[in-house]
Amino acid sequence: MAEYKINAAHLYGDLMNTYGDFGNIVALRYYAQKIGVVVEQHIVSLEDDFDAEDYDFVLFGGGQDYEQMIVAEDLPKKAVALKAYIEDDGPFLGVCGGFQLIGQYFILADGTKVKGIGALSHYTLNQPDSRFIGNVTIKDEVNGLEYHGFENHQGRTFLGDNERPLGEIIKGNGNNGEDGGEGLVYKNAYGTYFHGPILTRNGNLALHMLQLILDRKYPQVDWQQKIATITPEFF
Ligand code: GLN
Repeated sequence: MAEYKINAAHLYGDLMNTYGDFGNIVALRYYAQKIGVVVEQHIVSLEDDFDAEDYDFVLFGGGQDYEQMIVAEDLPKKAVALKAYIEDDGPFLGVCGGFQLIGQYFILADGTKVKGIGALSHYTLNQPDSRFIGNVTIKDEVNGLEYHGFENHQGRTFLGDNERPLGEIIKGNGNNGEDGGEGLVYKNAYGTYFHGPILTRNGNLALHMLQLILDRKYPQVDWQQKIATITPEFF
C-alpha cells in the first residue's frame, strides 16, 4: 500500500471532459509520482453519491450546453456535499462548463436559464450569436506567474465579491471579455475557462495544486520542500 495517496473525483467525467480535461488529473499524477505519491481517480456521475470525506481533489470539466443541461438536473443531489467540501478548503478545479455550474446559474446560447450548484457566487450570462475562441495568456497577480491555455465558450461569467480572478488577461477574452479577469479563486477552489488542460500546460500551477492537496491531507509532512525538487513542465 502506498504511504501517501490522493483520491481524485472526476465529476461527471463521462459527460464533461471537453478537450481531455481529465488530463488535469494525469498531470497531478505525473508530478505526484516523482515524490512517491499515488493518485487514484474515480468518476462520480449521474445518480452516484458524492461523499466529500472520500476525496482530496475534485475535477469538474467542461461540456457542451446539451451535456450541461443533463448534468444540471443531477447536481442538486450533490450540491450540499460539494458546497461543504469547498467551504472546508477542499481543493477543487472547475473547467469551463464545470466552472459555470459550480456558480449560481448559466444561460445557454438559446436563452434557457440553467441553475448551478450555487456553491460559489459567480453567474454566467450568454452571448447568443458569438463565442470566445482562441489562445489565452493570463498573469496571476498574487504570485506573478503566467498561465497559458485555450478557451472556447459562449458563456460570459461574472465573479462575486468574495471571488478573485485566477489571473488578469494578457491575451484572449477570459471570463466575459469585459473586466479583464480569467477564472476564479475562492479558498482552495479554482475555476477557469482554460482547456489544454490547464495543469498539463502549466506545470507551475499543477505543483501549486499538488501542494494544496497534500498540505491539507497530510499536514505533518513538509511538502513544500519535496515539491521544490520537481521541475515544472510547460506545453
Ligand atoms: N457550454 C459552455 C459554453 O459554451 C461551456 C463550453 C465548454 O465547456 N467548453 O459556454
